[in-house]
Amino acid sequence: MKLILLGAPGAGKGTQAEVICKKLNIPAISTGNIIRAALKNGTEMGLKAKSYIDAGQLVPDEVVIGIIRERLAEDDCKNGFVLDGFPRTIPQAEALDEMGVEIDKVIEIYVKDEDIVKRMSGRRVCSKCGSSYHLIYKQPAKEGICNECGAELVQRKDDYPETVLERLNVYHEQTEPLKGYYEKKGKLRIVEGQEEVADTTALTLKALED
Ligand code: ADP
Ligand code: ZN
Repeated sequence: MKLILLGAPGAGKGTQAEVICKKLNIPAISTGNIIRAALKNGTEMGLKAKSYIDAGQLVPDEVVIGIIRERLAEDDCKNGFVLDGFPRTIPQAEALDEMGVEIDKVIEIYVKDEDIVKRMSGRRVCSKCGSSYHLIYKQPAKEGICNECGAELVQRKDDYPETVLERLNVYHEQTEPLKGYYEKKGKLRIVEGQEEVADTTALTLKALED
């Protein structure tokens, strides 16, 4: 199955992507995680992306399209994948079409703006492996420590309140039009994000079936 997860920053795409990939045994591909890893490793692409990310702006289309083209060519993508955070603009969606990728379903995790702002302030990520947590909704077993690797949890710079508002603007302007794009193709399913992660997951898994 080839899936796209759409949704505002902080709507919980990443969390749902992890659930789906475990259940279907396909990789979850997050452009955000790939870019952050590049940044951490100090690659040229990472350095280029940094100023955009820190300002809450999108990284240029040609950069992320290149990332996805390479990633989808890898062996583990043969039986499908979950795209988390790509496409984020119409040109990115068109590039995916041009690569000949046949998407089965697009699931939007919908959360209203005011809840997004609340959620983002509580989001924490592992400084080492990138796993994501929340002070209220997805607490680690031990406060401030990653369940997966034991490293310290930190707040992403682009999760600071001013940047979150900018990211939401960018989402409404550049990413939301993708809903119409996939709706027209009959591929869009909307899942309303719930307070409890497990409740959202139940709805997401149901959306995969219809
Ligand atoms: P979130 O979904 O919470 O916004 P991500 O980790 O997906 O966070 O993305 C973080 C940042 O990485 C984005 O704000 C953007 O700058 C950049 N980014 C990730 N994916 C894309 C993409 N498909 N196109 C352009 N920029 C992207
Ligand atoms: Zn970790």
